[in-house]
Amino acid sequence: MLVDNRYSRQTLFEPIGEIGQKRLRNSHVLIIGVGALGSSSAEMLVRAGVGTITLMDRDYVEESNLQRQQLFSEEDAKNKNPKVMAAKNRLQEINSQTKINGQLTDVGVEELEAIVHDVDVIIDATDNFDTRLIINDICQKYQTPWIYGACVASYGVTFTVLPNKTPCLQCIMDHIPSDGATCDTVGIISPTVQMVVAHQVSEVLKILTENFRALSGKLIAFDLWKNQKMEIEVASLKDESCPSCVQKIYPHLDYQSQLKTAVLCGRNTVQIRAGKQRSFHFSDFKRHLKKIDLTNYLENPYLVSFEINEYRVVVFHDGRTLIHGTKNIQEAKKIYYHFVG
Ligand SMILES: [Zn+2]
Repeated sequence: MLVDNRYSRQTLFEPIGEIGQKRLRNSHVLIIGVGALGSSSAEMLVRAGVGTITLMDRDYVEESNLQRQQLFSEEDAKNKNPKVMAAKNRLQEINSQTKINGQLTDVGVEELEAIVHDVDVIIDATDNFDTRLIINDICQKYQTPWIYGACVASYGVTFTVLPNKTPCLQCIMDHIPSDGATCDTVGIISPTVQMVVAHQVSEVLKILTENFRALSGKLIAFDLWKNQKMEIEVASLKDESCPSCVQKIYPHLDYQSQLKTAVLCGRNTVQIRAGKQRSFHFSDFKRHLKKIDLTNYLENPYLVSFEINEYRVVVFHDGRTLIHGTKNIQEAKKIYYHFVG
């Protein structure tokens, strides 16, 4: 006899069953980045009944996101709502039983070390290799599985890293075809996103329900427009001198704490974070700012945004600042020192 309930179609799926469903309910997944990949992964996992999901992202919703970032609305773009908050609200409507934590933050070593012990698996939904290499080192250090995923235009790539079992991202780096193109230079179609996420979430479900033998064991790359698919057995790509998974030096956990500026991938934007010793008072900052006559000033509880000359400046509550309209770090710092101090 069929018992109809929320997860019945999933528990009917034999490799999951009632036992797998219970495991999902007791699981915690960390999704790093809530753009296109992160939105789609989060929605699938929330619908699947994963018990706890933590989202980390540093950005807010913009109009150009709406074409593929499925959790966001025109209202979110208009109000520049942080992606983690907008996503959390929508996900909670979809499944009120899942616990959703949203962290509005630039993901670095500290942020990951604070949470890695609590999570069962990490999904990479970032847009840059700096963050991925930190995730890779953290996951090797703390023995946490993670799923790499990336997409641009009609091309996507994904593979699963299991510490002590598979090679890591550092081993495989040179085998990932890339020409430096980004979604901001050559665009992207949403089916590419969904295809990468289909692979990533399937692998996560296999890990969480302990169907380890079903894992793909392959680096998967595809191009939906050119109708191409490539699979490489990852076992053959292990680098026997890898500093991360073999020597366990974890090179990317070191210097990150000093990094204060970064040009955001293909976005004509510079991000600036203040050093840790400096405290930032968002309310005072807003009060000072209001004395100046600024173009297109907007504020919400998480950030303020305004324009100055050809730049748009966005300052988050923790002082992290985005300067849109330049890739020049010196130019961006000048504006930062002028307004944020
Ligand atoms: Zn390695």
